[in-house]
Amino acid sequence: MDPTLNADELRRYSRHLVMPEVGREGQERLKSARVLVVGAGGLGSPAAMYLAAAGVGKLGLVEFDRVEESNLQRQVLYGQSDIGSSKIGVAQARLREINPLIEIVAHELKIDSSNAMELVGRYDLVVDGSDNFPTRYLVNDACVLGGIPDVYGSIFRFEGHLAVFDGKQGPCYRCLFPEPPPPGLVPSCAEGGVLGILPGVIGSLQASETIKLLLGIGESLIGRLMIFDALGPRFRELRLKKSPDCPVCSENPTLTELIDYEAFCGTAPEPRPLDDINISVVELARLQDEGRGPKLLDVRTPREWQICRLQGAELLPLQELPGRWQELDPNQEIVVYCHHGHRSARAVDFLRRAGLERVRNLTGGIDAWSREIDPAVPLY
Ligand code: ZN
Repeated sequence: MDPTLNADELRRYSRHLVMPEVGREGQERLKSARVLVVGAGGLGSPAAMYLAAAGVGKLGLVEFDRVEESNLQRQVLYGQSDIGSSKIGVAQARLREINPLIEIVAHELKIDSSNAMELVGRYDLVVDGSDNFPTRYLVNDACVLGGIPDVYGSIFRFEGHLAVFDGKQGPCYRCLFPEPPPPGLVPSCAEGGVLGILPGVIGSLQASETIKLLLGIGESLIGRLMIFDALGPRFRELRLKKSPDCPVCSENPTLTELIDYEAFCGTAPEPRPLDDINISVVELARLQDEGRGPKLLDVRTPREWQICRLQGAELLPLQELPGRWQELDPNQEIVVYCHHGHRSARAVDFLRRAGLERVRNLTGGIDAWSREIDPAVPLY
């Protein structure tokens, strides 16, 4: 995009242009800037509205929710008639109305490890307006790996936090919080509540920090955590240090690509116990054909194992099971087999009592497999 300001833009941004700290050059910088706002909720609403109004040339929004009535107490992008509509569509229209001279890009998706690097790579800076730990770690890591700043904000009840994480110049979110809190320990805003104006304060400050970074003016919040208490009211500040052991922003990072953040934060849904304790050879063959084949555990003797076995199986003889069952992954789906299905039924009973709920018995054993599915497996 040509950063040169046209006549419309000169009129629109005149209150910026008269300030020497911004001026025409600064406004042209804003026009050529690309900012991604993750989450168009409480924080994202004011942040995106002020960034749009200020003339950030390309403004991306990531959001996939619909507008709910309980959002309207603080998410000022939306109104009564938007209830039930997709947030991103409403937000895009509202921001266009605020400033038709900029580009507003709608990313209607859930940001995750599969798309974050590509998404972040298209922008100069990210404003994190997310409301959950997996997304915060994801945005932090993607920004550090992508070499761009993460303007962080979070809110709860009457307290808001604000920081600029820039792995190149200072600490990142992981330096501050190396480990996520245990799942369920920190209540969400839905559980604990939030003062409606609070995201207005913090989201606006995120926009302010963003504009300052883009213009290169003032002192940024790199290396500082600002805490706002709305009841005081009072701003406090903590100095943040870069951790020499930070897995992502230190000199010898151990984390060089994105991970599974739901698993890291312990927020992945619990695997469901399998209702049926038995599985037929036909069903097992179907799962394998679909590429969803479970782990196969052979509980026969090593001598039988020498005669024949199912492809991909692992041998763990029944007698050794009581001493070795901890080697098995309790979350993995496992099918146990033996010769005819009797010893494996005992093994499944034992494993289920030990807490492995995703274990099933192959009815008829390897004998049935040979007769019904694959005659190349020798009968004995
Ligand atoms: Zn770090």
